[in-house]
Amino acid sequence: MGSHLQELLLIGGDLVPAASGLQADLVDPATGEIWAAVAAGGVEDIDRAVQVADQARASWRKVNSHDRTRILLNLANLIRAQGEALAQLESRNVGKPIREAREEVGLAADCFEYYAGAINKIGGQTIPVAAAGISMTLREPVGVCGLIAPWNFPIAITAWKVAPALAMGNTIVLKPASQTPLTALRLGELALQAGVPAGVFNVIPGVGNVAGAALASHPLVRKVSFTGSTEIGSAVMKLAAEDIKRITLELGGKSANLVFVDADLDKAVLKALWSVLGNAGQDCCARSRLLLERPLYEEFLYRLSHEFKKLKIGLPLQEETEIGALISLAHRDRVQHYIELGKQEGATLVCGGMIPSQDEFRGGAFLQPTLFADVDPNMKIAQEEIFGPVLCAIPFDTEEEAIAIANQSLYGLSGSIWTRDMGRALRVARAIETGVLSINTGHSVHLEAPFGGVKRSGLGRELGLAVLDHYSELKSIFIAE
Ligand code: NAP
Repeated sequence: MGSHLQELLLIGGDLVPAASGLQADLVDPATGEIWAAVAAGGVEDIDRAVQVADQARASWRKVNSHDRTRILLNLANLIRAQGEALAQLESRNVGKPIREAREEVGLAADCFEYYAGAINKIGGQTIPVAAAGISMTLREPVGVCGLIAPWNFPIAITAWKVAPALAMGNTIVLKPASQTPLTALRLGELALQAGVPAGVFNVIPGVGNVAGAALASHPLVRKVSFTGSTEIGSAVMKLAAEDIKRITLELGGKSANLVFVDADLDKAVLKALWSVLGNAGQDCCARSRLLLERPLYEEFLYRLSHEFKKLKIGLPLQEETEIGALISLAHRDRVQHYIELGKQEGATLVCGGMIPSQDEFRGGAFLQPTLFADVDPNMKIAQEEIFGPVLCAIPFDTEEEAIAIANQSLYGLSGSIWTRDMGRALRVARAIETGVLSINTGHSVHLEAPFGGVKRSGLGRELGLAVLDHYSELKSIFIAE
């Protein structure tokens, strides 16, 4: 993995340089070294890719359901066959622990299998209208889909978009995040090997406000699916509004983890930790606000801080690493800024907050997992998405207060409730304004279930069968008797 990679754009089945000839360097988050150069797609490249994808529409939509299923299953198999290489590439590119990267590559393969299986089971309806004849609906592809991905879970989130888009017969131009384009490019190449025709799936790495904006505003793009920050999501929505593109937005979060006194504390402590520190906290679903019922507040924090201190920070490719590097030094600066802000706002720093001092971490974007106690729900650290390994603990006295604090957020993506009282669990689950929620676990993302946010966390749903509505148009046809 020491060699300097040279990466190109994937347009119409060919790997090509950017029209401008420009390249962007990739920095290894764990060492600070430049280890790859990637062609930087611009407006001209996006236009070429969209034109190619537009021309490929007619033939891809005609591929019958059996053959399309086969092709997506082939792709899933190729991802598994290349699993270790993909995981190592992802781990190094994002700085994430290799164990997490392996899991995500596996999820990407699962995703192609799931949507391969859906292809011949999802169709239209016949409808009993008040006229002599038959009304029926056809489910048709939307057309060229512009997919814009973030850097935190590159291959998994890309698969969430590409698999249902292809399953429904659409063609694709994918713009990965500038910092993490590598597995997206590999996926595009594997798709060709799997039998996806050239031009159906194009990959254009490039700078967001150039390539991403060109994609979101291109007149031949019929649908945009964006995952990233709320701020950029809002800008993308404005671009897409110009010609009424379909749009799905998966945006930021500041999710709450509510622990009531009757919770299973052993489980709740460990899950409270992993539901914020997975991927070093760079997770839209991170339960970064920990709401603890007052009688268990002290004990919970004592046990949690003990677990925080045991975590193994390490180089991403080492098997035993639990917390890898953040995506970049600039992002670590941003997270550290929030840690300083938390101290100034009067929160109690229980543990962490420092850059680890060992030699092996020099040059990399490492940061100790950080636990704040006595956080007031109005503090900025309790309101803004930090997107790093920082957990804010907030005490509460009543169920009503817990719900009010949980809902005191511009976001509404995820969350957890810990209690053995199922009546309370359901009552609170109904009252929390969020798109997904888990009870007595820290995990609420399942391939088979809809995923997405309310409020400023997004628009539309990914995953499950629900996403297929966002990648198809219903056409009504009436046949008179
Ligand atoms: P980001 O800065 O919003 O970027 C997301 C993508 O948009 C990148 O590919 C970026 O390209 C591109 N982009 C930037 N400016 C653009 C523009 N003007 N027009 C079109 N595209 C543009 O987000 P990020 O930092 O990569 O990811 C972190 C954020 O994503 C967090 O807020 C997190 O909560 C959110 N997220 C949400 C979910 C979810 O499912 N709800 C999942 C994962 C992450 P560049 O890389 O070149 O900037």
